[in-house]
Amino acid sequence: MTENKLKFGSATINYTLHFQERKTLGIKVYPDCSIHVFAPIDANSDVIHSKLRERAPWILRQLNEFLSYHPLTPPRKFIPGETHLYLGKQYKLKLQVSDTNQVKLKSGELIILHKIDVSPKEVLNSWYKTKATDYFTKTLNKSIDLFSKYSIEVTTLQIRKMSKRWGSCTTDGKIILNTELIKAPKGSIEYVIIHELCHLVHHNHTKAFYDLQQKIIPDWKKWKEQLERTMI
Ligand SMILES: [Zn+2]
Repeated sequence: MTENKLKFGSATINYTLHFQERKTLGIKVYPDCSIHVFAPIDANSDVIHSKLRERAPWILRQLNEFLSYHPLTPPRKFIPGETHLYLGKQYKLKLQVSDTNQVKLKSGELIILHKIDVSPKEVLNSWYKTKATDYFTKTLNKSIDLFSKYSIEVTTLQIRKMSKRWGSCTTDGKIILNTELIKAPKGSIEYVIIHELCHLVHHNHTKAFYDLQQKIIPDWKKWKEQLERTMI
């Protein structure tokens, strides 16, 4: 098993190469974006590279299908009046020095109460994390009921900031969700969670995967588009 790189246009494909008792080259792209190449024991590297180059467009397409996160707007400056998102809705920022650190939502306003020596950004980030933990756990528990026919098990739910992904999962049942997802519409959050749960049944983006996703959440395309349009 070795780690390798292949340049293809402007992209670099990092893959793990395994030699096996087999006749043809096999490629697998996993939801965590890892790429595994399975080659016959006697295959030489020129043959492997030319085969990989042939399949590179397919590999890149697979990687692209995994839920990627591209922030569209510059980071907030925490100036009163600027907008901040929560569950797909825009709120106008209001700041208030207080004895406690707290966030309140009131008629279209997001009010950050903060102690004089604590930054509003810190208060808001910790509020987002708490809300994300509650809401994602609740949505995951509700969504998993839709998978009762499939024996899947979520071993851990981890919520953390990720720079490139909305969500990911591992083959042993761990689901990782981006804290930033709490800013997206509820339907989009449900879509990301269901997408990851479908991966616990089918690990690749095969037709079987999409058929299952379509069955569980028929309007997934709409929520995916909304997610991509959300001004995060
Ligand atoms: Zn996926």
